Amino acid sequence: MQGRGLEPFFIEYRDPMFGIIILFTIVFIIAFVNYWWGVFKSKEEKQSIEQFIKRFEITTDEDDYKKLLDEFAVPTESLGLLAHSYTKSGDFEKAIGVYLLALKRVKNRDEKQYILTELGITYFKAGFLRRSCEVFLEALRLFPRNKVALKYLTVTYEKLKEFEHSLEVLDALEEMGADVAAQKAYVKAKSILADKAVNHEAKLTSLRALKESFGLAERMVFEYWLKHQLVLDWEEIATFDTRVILDLLWYLDPHLVRTEALTDPVAKAVFKARGYEVESQECEVFELEVLGKLQGAGYTEAGLSFSYFCDACKQTFPVHFYRCPSCHALGSVNIEPIITKERLEAHLPF
Ligand SMILES: [Zn+2]
Repeated sequence: MQGRGLEPFFIEYRDPMFGIIILFTIVFIIAFVNYWWGVFKSKEEKQSIEQFIKRFEITTDEDDYKKLLDEFAVPTESLGLLAHSYTKSGDFEKAIGVYLLALKRVKNRDEKQYILTELGITYFKAGFLRRSCEVFLEALRLFPRNKVALKYLTVTYEKLKEFEHSLEVLDALEEMGADVAAQKAYVKAKSILADKAVNHEAKLTSLRALKESFGLAERMVFEYWLKHQLVLDWEEIATFDTRVILDLLWYLDPHLVRTEALTDPVAKAVFKARGYEVESQECEVFELEVLGKLQGAGYTEAGLSFSYFCDACKQTFPVHFYRCPSCHALGSVNIEPIITKERLEAHLPF
């Protein structure tokens, strides 16, 4: 009788669903406890690290360093030097704070325009373009012949895509005797490319007209053809300085390639290196010469990649630039081919 009385209980107990529920409950409890233990431990660890840092730091408050500099009446020159070193190390927030503090202390116009110019450059480097414009304009209000401020201001307007303003600033620099022909041509080219009201042919004609002052306009024409899938004019390409489009020729889609009109030895060497039947003489680019010879010998496992070297600041970048991303020099790019082990898939950088 007793056994029978307990039977319904045992039946439920033997139900496989019951076992699964118990198992999941246990797993959940373990996971939950584990999680909270982890949270507790990491909190404890964080607190102990914070206490450790506090022992070595004078302050943890971001604004306290300004108070400290203010209270000790640090001279403006020293503030300028300090801010400059912050800018150099990339700590723009602190540099700006110190420049603003120095600005409050300046005694004469010369000091004020120096600090304003440096502050403008720091805002520019930190990427606050609108603010950097305002600060440069204030510096120029005090001293309109401030060449450094004018040079930065034209690039700032260019980056903000305010090309008319950029050209106005270049006019001011030209009046002061600076050679700004290439810069003017470049800004005009950017403005033409950004103009949505002008058709392809008019844009290309305007770009071609800028070639005299800005050699890289040829590359802009070539890029424009590719970007808008226009027919490549190989007779015009034959007149180009091939060194400025070396990478574009290397990556050019095979169905766009026409080698008949080529006359330039570098252009011929590019296609010979790619494996085309091209009669070419000696080529000044060593890498192309080597690849061409390898192709001739039937070895096709070598390819090219490119790096972009700035003649002005001697830095190398992985992508092409018209204005150096680091020193902002214009047209300082040098396309450098590098022989690689495998032939990369031909593709266009668009
Ligand atoms: Zn550079």
